[in-house]
Amino acid sequence: MSGAVQLVWFKRDLRVEDHRPLTEAARLGPVVCLYVYEPELHGSVEFTAAHLVFLNESLRSLDRSLRELGGSLVLRRGKLTEVLHELRREVDFEGLWSHEETGSDLTYRRDREVGAWCREHGIPWTEFRQDGVVRRLASRNGWARHWEEFVREPASPPPEIRGLNGVVSVGFLTPEDLDLPATDKPDAQKGGQEEARRTLASFLTQRGVNYRSEMSSPVTGWNGCSRISPYLSFGCISLRTVVTKLGERRLALRAAQAAGAAVDRRWFGSLQSFGSRLRWHCHFMQKLEDEPRIEFTNFVRAYDGLREEFAAGPEGRRRFEAWKEGHTGYPMVDACIRCVKVTGWLNFRMRAMLASFSAYHLWLHWREPAVWLGSHFLDFEAGIHFSQFQMQSGTSGINTVRIYSPAKQALEQDPDGEFIRRWVPELRDVPVSWLSKPEQMPEEIQSRCGCVIGRHYPAPIVEHAIAVKEARDRIAAVRRKTETRTEAKKVFVRHGSRKRPTKRSAAKNQQPTLPGLALS
Ligand SMILES: Cc1cc2nc3c(=O)[nH]c(=O)nc-3n(C[C@H](O)[C@H](O)[C@H](O)COP(=O)(O)OP(=O)(O)OC[C@H]3O[C@@H](n4cnc5c(N)ncnc54)[C@H](O)[C@@H]3O)c2cc1C
Repeated sequence: MSGAVQLVWFKRDLRVEDHRPLTEAARLGPVVCLYVYEPELHGSVEFTAAHLVFLNESLRSLDRSLRELGGSLVLRRGKLTEVLHELRREVDFEGLWSHEETGSDLTYRRDREVGAWCREHGIPWTEFRQDGVVRRLASRNGWARHWEEFVREPASPPPEIRGLNGVVSVGFLTPEDLDLPATDKPDAQKGGQEEARRTLASFLTQRGVNYRSEMSSPVTGWNGCSRISPYLSFGCISLRTVVTKLGERRLALRAAQAAGAAVDRRWFGSLQSFGSRLRWHCHFMQKLEDEPRIEFTNFVRAYDGLREEFAAGPEGRRRFEAWKEGHTGYPMVDACIRCVKVTGWLNFRMRAMLASFSAYHLWLHWREPAVWLGSHFLDFEAGIHFSQFQMQSGTSGINTVRIYSPAKQALEQDPDGEFIRRWVPELRDVPVSWLSKPEQMPEEIQSRCGCVIGRHYPAPIVEHAIAVKEARDRIAAVRRKTETRTEAKKVFVRHGSRKRPTKRSAAKNQQPTLPGLALS
């Protein structure tokens, strides 16, 4: 057998399609395909048994595909550098191949250690871009062009693999093996490349037609959103493949239209909105790549100290516990929290509302709620998650301070009360007209529908109008300071989108652009 052995390290790229490290390594010689369960990473607060289930499903799918190509997946457990060291004693590999990763501080530090280990042992480590994020980006100007160029590059085809026999694999680890407390997410999405492809195909050909009008409601968003996020997060499908399939679908629809077929025009707007969001995916991750500290600290440091003391005090603790339990007395907030605990997913609007509610109504610092909610999102993606949490908490400095009214969101996004009734059974028999503000129900209706406020369901933990006014005043006071504005300008230069808002995105304000204050 000719060619030196190459080691392909799979991390958050659990696929064989469009996997350039695998394709390039396989050209040079036999490959060992490695995935490592890392006690530090897989024991971190953001990683749960639900993530492990999804991960293992994805690893099984990857192993199947590798076997079809002639290889197989080697699973190991341990600190990366120690695993590499051990493996080197068993197999004399000459090169390490992987994708770049824009992840949490844990993965950043681990990658630096791997880099040092490779240098020390004279092993070249070749990393390829995995998405539109640019490493060592000098300026945000022209970023959109980089993104376009990246997604237009041809995808790497799955290669024929020359595997190596006899490399020991530890097998799939269980939650007990990793000391993970059991979490039950019966309605979570299933992992793997096949599921990723099926999910995307059904969105692009059936489910996505009303994406634009359905995405903001947790009722219609369940089917109407793409649900591609965990597959992107675990890399079961590449961002480039999603963008390519989207392009193909758009062309097919246009061709059908040109040929005189009846094409539902809603497709065009919906697919355009979907395409914008695939850019945002990388736009947000780029922020973490450029400034890893934003996982822990405010974009604009002038906001430091604004909420910390209150959040750490007894009232802050009480509010945080109520928020986590879904016992705030705000039905839409409570329904979302309880839903995400079981399903691992929420649509954008509801995530934004939860973050905004914790930051403004409850006056909690974003970090703790973000970590907690991140541990419940199957698609947890540090770059998007922490940037979004900061944006929805008013600490990014460059975005509109948008405070969501849970009652208004209930009326607009769950007008029949279907979502609230499903997730907050205490409110099941409450008439729909009272569902957004059950505390205002007359006592006799409370008794008639078996939901006495304060006994069966809590009264609102804070009063909306007062809490919102206080939060707005406090934030506005910091925003007025010269140092805040100076810092915010720097944040814009470093991280701000250079794209002008469309009328639609400015109205909806999901796209990060203009600063201001707004109620939603
Ligand atoms: C507080 C908060 C936390 C979030 N945390 C995460 C997270 O950990 N992981 C994650 O993938 N997304 C996160 N999002 C963004 C967004 O809510 C999810 O990507 C989306 O709900 C996932 O469902 P979907 O794949 O059906 O999305 P779709 O609406 O179908 O969108 C398709 C894809 O576009 C990207 N996307 C969509 N909206 C956004 C956005 N606003 N910002 C960046 N990318 C976007 C995602 O990759 C998504 O999978 C967060 C949003 C908020 C407000």
